[in-house]
Amino acid sequence: MTKAPLGGLVALLCVGTLLAGCRDDEPTSAERSPATATPASAETPSGTASLPVETDAPADPDDPALDPALSEPVEDSVYPDVGDPSVDSLHYDLDLAWTPDSRTLVGDATIELRSTADGDHLQLDLGEPLEVSAVTLDGADVPFEHTGKDLVVTAPVVRDERYVVDVHYSGTPETTPAPTERTDFNTSGWAITPDGETWTMQEPYGAFTWYPVNDQPADKAYYDITVTVPSPWVGIANGELADQTEHDGLTTTSWHLSKPASSYVVTVATGAYTRTTNTSQSGVEISYWVPSDRPGLARGLESAAAGLDWLEALLGPYPFDSLGFLLVDSKSGMETQTLITLGATDYTTSEAVLVHEMAHQWYGDEVTPQDWSDVWMNEGMAMYLQGCWQAEEDGRSVDSVMDEYAEIESPLRAKAGPPAAYDPAQFGNGNIYYGPALMWHELRKRIGDDAFWSMVRDWPARKPETNTTREDYLDWLVERTHVDRAFFEAWLLSPTTPSRS
Ligand SMILES: [Zn+2]
Repeated sequence: MTKAPLGGLVALLCVGTLLAGCRDDEPTSAERSPATATPASAETPSGTASLPVETDAPADPDDPALDPALSEPVEDSVYPDVGDPSVDSLHYDLDLAWTPDSRTLVGDATIELRSTADGDHLQLDLGEPLEVSAVTLDGADVPFEHTGKDLVVTAPVVRDERYVVDVHYSGTPETTPAPTERTDFNTSGWAITPDGETWTMQEPYGAFTWYPVNDQPADKAYYDITVTVPSPWVGIANGELADQTEHDGLTTTSWHLSKPASSYVVTVATGAYTRTTNTSQSGVEISYWVPSDRPGLARGLESAAAGLDWLEALLGPYPFDSLGFLLVDSKSGMETQTLITLGATDYTTSEAVLVHEMAHQWYGDEVTPQDWSDVWMNEGMAMYLQGCWQAEEDGRSVDSVMDEYAEIESPLRAKAGPPAAYDPAQFGNGNIYYGPALMWHELRKRIGDDAFWSMVRDWPARKPETNTTREDYLDWLVERTHVDRAFFEAWLLSPTTPSRS
């Protein structure tokens, strides 16, 4: 996630980047690629969306193609009330119909999953405002209870057996309070604008506000998301646009995410959107989905292509099949997998933030912490790479950027706790960003540039599309760098900032 420009950080992080910010009064330039979606009016369309007739082949949970989504789910040490380690979801096939007039979401979620234990039930998270009308397990109706956000499906299940759970639900989703003191967001999940457009950001949890899910990062799964909305609006989600059809005044789009993802990096939006594209020198096509009445917003984002080239030179080839940016009515930014979700603010659309969120595609999305206590794994490296990029952009040393990080790090650590043992009520404070970024810079000075950058490049590629524990990462770091474990633990767990060299 973007570090919010809190107080003094605005000056620190936005230097040199605001000029690249968005200008929303400029027309779309003629040389752009044609839009996939029909340019649309921002007026709320009045049609009623319904789910298309199901044409998919019956789900086969034993399909070996799902094996890369096998996970070792855990009870989260920071947010234990969300997610359930008895479920290992493998694939979510989500059919969603959104009617903006009535603010109604109709959903059919087909979930292929593995039970991790013998038992008499399966538990998923699903927002309380959504009403469940039916649940089937392997095609047969099963009893269920939906209390608060806990959806408990009653059925005998066997450890390591795989099942297909189908949930029909509808209602008006509501965001959930986020455990944070940040100023750029205080709720997460499915958000609805005054016009009835919708968007989502859901770190550390909140996917459950719009679909039944094991909403904890350790449980990665494949996704196919189909969204139906009244035309000319369009639904946008992670991955590749596999199909788009118009029928009875409705637009249905189908999205396929070809590598497993944690629920907090899933995104979906509906509204009047236009798509443009450009391509990095390395050949990655980047899509920009911007509100149709603000086409100029895309221009400020096109520097992402150069930012991606810069990152690939350090990190290796971009790890996914597609890349895009989705602008929404938020004040934050989120590294949603293959489709980065950004608020339309000057800061969140700055090149520094584009680089930060793209860096997360390797650090956060390709390799993901198993537990929220280790969100520093994502933010420390993204913030360090952002700082390196900023130094180059400004023509100054990385040391000088790190001096600025260090100035604000100590009070943040004192307020929100050590980066890997933070106050659960202060998710995403600056402590998880700046301390670990400083740690990486100190490590770089100890082992030299060559060893440092090869380590940075090798970590995400070592076990791609997996989750990792702190133990595993520190073991690897110690073996790889020959630097004492105590060095890393001091930066991650000390209540005060270790001294810098
Ligand atoms: Zn981030």
